[in-house]
Formats: sequence, C-alpha cells, structure tokens
Amino acid sequence: MVCCAMNMTRKKLQDQGTGQVPALRFRPHHFLCSLGFEGKGYSDAFTANMTAIVMGQLRASGGADTVIEVVGQTDDICQPCPKRRGSKCTSQARIEALDRRHAKALNLQTGDRLTWGQASARIREHVKPDDLQTICAGCQWLDLGLCQAAVKRLHRQD
Ligand code: SF4
Repeated sequence: MVCCAMNMTRKKLQDQGTGQVPALRFRPHHFLCSLGFEGKGYSDAFTANMTAIVMGQLRASGGADTVIEVVGQTDDICQPCPKRRGSKCTSQARIEALDRRHAKALNLQTGDRLTWGQASARIREHVKPDDLQTICAGCQWLDLGLCQAAVKRLHRQD
C-alpha cells in the first residue's frame, strides 16, 4: 500500500507539474543496496516499497534516466521501515557509518543529483565486489552474497 501511495503521489505531481517525475531521494548506502536488491527486506511494507522503487523504476524500461538526489537522512527507501524513527534509525550510528563509507567510495555528497545510469557507472568504476566486505561491514544482508554478485554482474557488462 505504501508503494502505491508513493507512486500515486509521484504521478499526481507529474500530472500537476512540469510533466517530470520528482527525483528519488537516496541516502548514500542505498545506491548499492538498490543494485543488489532481490526482494528481501525488513517487513512486507518495506519490501513492497523497495520493490516499487527498484523493480518499478530503476530496473524498468528507461530506469537508467531516473534522477536521484543524495540526502543525509532517512529517504524514500526508509519511509516504511519498521526501524525508522522520524528522520533517524534505531541503528543510527551503524547506518551513519555505512553512509559515510559508501559516500566516500562513490564520491557522493548530500544534495548531489545523478541518474541511476550515472550511479551504476560510478559503482562500476569505483567499487569492486570484494570492497563490500569493508564498506558494507555490519550489514545483515552482506553474508547472503547478493550484493557482491550484483557488483560482479555489473563489472561483466560491456
Ligand atoms: S551488503 Fe547491505 S549495505 Fe551493502 S549493498 Fe548490500 S544491502 Fe546495502
């Protein structure tokens, strides 16, 4: 339901505004999380929302042109997360450390705007699969290997 509400809001803005869909908002570590996302999440609502963003926008036809703005707090992926507390997280220190390492690896700063295609190219240029052991340290999804596999696939693309 959350994903549908969010998509309806975007559509409404698109219809009422300039005809452009507003930028997605991502905190730094969610660029790589989106690359590796395979339908697992913290709750049904979280997974539905992230599926709508990743499968419904970034990986959909034309998704490489999706504009994403870098933010320094909870973002569009965090919205329905059961761990979100306002603009913060119940694991705030661990998440901030993740964001710092991912921002450094991808040269991202709050307020930057880039397309998903540009973000993917930046991941490919700056991140090797084994780097995730360091920059994603402390993430519960790391040991599943899905994100490393996604980075490997990205490097294999021509
Ligand atoms: S291991 Fe965790 S922090 Fe790293 S990309 Fe995957 S989900 Fe994101």
